[in-house]
Amino acid sequence: MKQLKLISDNPVHTKRIGEMIGRSAEPGDVVLFTGDLGAGKTTMSQGIAAGLGIMNDVTSPTFTLMQIYQGTMPLYHLDVYRLNSEEEALDIGLEDVLYGDGLCLMEWAEQFPNLWPDDYLLVRIERSEETIRDMELTGEGAGEALLIRVSKLLESAGIAYESA
Ligand code: ADP
Ligand code: MG
Repeated sequence: MKQLKLISDNPVHTKRIGEMIGRSAEPGDVVLFTGDLGAGKTTMSQGIAAGLGIMNDVTSPTFTLMQIYQGTMPLYHLDVYRLNSEEEALDIGLEDVLYGDGLCLMEWAEQFPNLWPDDYLLVRIERSEETIRDMELTGEGAGEALLIRVSKLLESAGIAYESA
């Protein structure tokens, strides 16, 4: 399975899905988020952090660019919205965290498609109504293995999804 689609109708549910991604992650995994402002990228990141056992408040790294947390593995949480060039992205140490020892989350990954690694889980979130979010998870390389682990957790929690 390379892709699954699901719907979230509230932020708590989005966090719960994120938690399953966090619990399934392995060191070196990368989650790329696309979706507009308010889609729920940070909300899902909070769930992912919880899944790694991180107790800190996880806030948007829009201005700090990168926040690092320590859970069952390091968590690198990036928001590249404010970066203007690939060069700036590389300057903040993007490659170290994309090819590192922890889980890397990148919000606004659509800004730098050329910097995407070969292995990733792509999470596309679209806001269709006030609280409804259409989500599409696509796995490439190691991200496909991650996606399969996530799908098993979704199944055991009885969360419906459509696979492709
Ligand atoms: P982003 O990081 O994509 O800009 P945030 O996670 O910061 O988005 O904000 C998402 C906003 O949408 C939050 O205020 C959240 O409470 C709200 N929201 C409403 N419904 C949902 C949902 N189903 N999933 C995620 N967030 C939701
Ligand atoms: Mg955000």
